[in-house]
Amino acid sequence: MTTAPTEPSLPAPPAENRPPRLSVVLPAHNEAAGLARALAEIGSVLATCGVTYELLVVDDGSRDRTFDEIQALAAADRCVRGIRLSRNFGKEAALLAGLEAARGDAVVTIDADLQHPPHLIPELLDRWRAGARVVHAVKRDRSHDTRMARWRSAAFHGLLTRLGGVDVRNSSDFKLLDRAVVDALVTAFPERSRFYRGLADWVGFEQASVPFDVAPREAGHGKWSLGALLGLATTALVSFTSAPLRIVTSLGFLTLAFGALVAADTVWSRFQGTAVSGFATLEITLLFLGSLIMISLGIVGEYIAKIYDETKHRPAYLVASTCGFEEKDPGGTDRGER
Ligand code: UDP
Ligand code: MG
Repeated sequence: MTTAPTEPSLPAPPAENRPPRLSVVLPAHNEAAGLARALAEIGSVLATCGVTYELLVVDDGSRDRTFDEIQALAAADRCVRGIRLSRNFGKEAALLAGLEAARGDAVVTIDADLQHPPHLIPELLDRWRAGARVVHAVKRDRSHDTRMARWRSAAFHGLLTRLGGVDVRNSSDFKLLDRAVVDALVTAFPERSRFYRGLADWVGFEQASVPFDVAPREAGHGKWSLGALLGLATTALVSFTSAPLRIVTSLGFLTLAFGALVAADTVWSRFQGTAVSGFATLEITLLFLGSLIMISLGIVGEYIAKIYDETKHRPAYLVASTCGFEEKDPGGTDRGER
């Protein structure tokens, strides 16, 4: 979308005989403690992959020294580039900022906390070289997550897969995307609230999956509050399916049928001369219907809120500053990549 940083300035070598260029995008929010180690580890894996690469770190409004760290790393290593967003816009926006700034023939998105194992990147690249345009790293072992987190994730992914028609079971934001897919994601999708995992499946093209085990966090701590998770889940559901609205309609018909039955029973009892009683039943029915109506209004409200958000056409993020994009060698031989 918006204020993407200036393009890496050095000219591309002839396409036929150059190794593929890979951009690795790392969204980072308060990751100062582990960033140097993560970049070093990713760099050492990439050095063996037969590609030139850039490491693009998007500082998503960190309150610690993340951007200072990125600047220091960029000064020491010409492959490192940084984008600092003007505030914390959330991981989805940070990923989008990275995808928009990436210049590689393929782009890998990976967490900055080493929970996504860098040693999987060669396998992702192999699948890409074999023709896949989207390679998903799929979680195999979630034993480091709490039972509650696993249950929550299974329920959400199952619901989205069933209602939204996109397969996101066990998926993660650790993916490799071909240039064609990245171009599609940044140019053909005007929507502001995004769910990257869903979109990467939705776009189609040739897709492949590689399983991986989630590692425990190396430094810092997880940033997802329950509220943020609920927000992401709502965005995902609302942007991929209108099924909840149809469920509301079906529930309406169901309660109508129930009401008709109760009415018929009441009329029947009156003819039979039986006293119509049941204050408790009435109370329960009213409460039940009341909550059903409130929930339904809430669901409709979520869709209206999303429409409202989208019609404002606000940028998904704003860039405060960048580093590592400036021309490193005016002579034109050094592309700022390794
Ligand atoms: N992240 C981000 N913005 C946020 C929250 C997280 O860029 O508002 C980054 C974070 O720095 C990390 C990745 O997204 O690189 C995953 O975050 P985290 O480890 O907190 O989530 P989890 O591993 O629990 O999915
Ligand atoms: Mg993590």
